[in-house]
Amino acid sequence: MRILVISDIHANLTAFEAVLQDAGKDAWEQIWCLGDVVGYGPDPNECVALLQSFPNHTCLSGNHDWAVLNRLDINSFNVEARQAIHWTQSQLTPESHAYLDGLPSLVIVPPHFTLAHASPRQPVWEYILDASVAAANLLHFETPICLVGHTHTPIIYAYMDDQMMTRTPLYGQPISLNIPDRLIINPGSVGQPRDGDPRAAYALLDLEQMTWEHRRVAYDIAATQARMRQHDLPPRLVARLAYGW
Ligand SMILES: [Zn+2]
Repeated sequence: MRILVISDIHANLTAFEAVLQDAGKDAWEQIWCLGDVVGYGPDPNECVALLQSFPNHTCLSGNHDWAVLNRLDINSFNVEARQAIHWTQSQLTPESHAYLDGLPSLVIVPPHFTLAHASPRQPVWEYILDASVAAANLLHFETPICLVGHTHTPIIYAYMDDQMMTRTPLYGQPISLNIPDRLIINPGSVGQPRDGDPRAAYALLDLEQMTWEHRRVAYDIAATQARMRQHDLPPRLVARLAYGW
């Protein structure tokens, strides 16, 4: 089984379509989506519908998905994110709402994988931004590997020789996942990358070969930005897509 691993689509249909096209139909049989399907971007219903069109997919709930469902206090969001949440709430169809409402926040795929939007310790909220936070999270999942999104930054944390190491992704080069090493891996964000590279990020996982491949693909950022302007979404959210921040 080969898996297309995506996260943080953030209602950016153009980026999502570019990822699907770049990965190709024959390279995977299943999608694992690590949450934040909506929030920030101009295409919430379209992104939900496109994801739903793949019967073989697993999707988690992210903090923006929860915010849209009024499951958390959005005063913890910055002002632009809040405006985008209110706009998304005004657009969401009952079908999209029902889909988001039914998503789990953590999924275990035995024997090797735990999937969480943010972290295994706090599946919707915690940012794993450094090796010490990654190391603290090892106590909170039992499988060898945990996949997370949320920071919008592709990265691998590998626990070896009693140390948590950080590895920067090598795009387009499959690496082998040496079980029982313990790993926390982030595929990066499809719809709003924040690592200074504006291209959409995703990954391919091969469960037979036990390989992982981080990938990037350029998409028509201006097209997404034009739709954001049409909907009066905050200018700072429009601008940041071009910088990958
Ligand atoms: Zn996100």
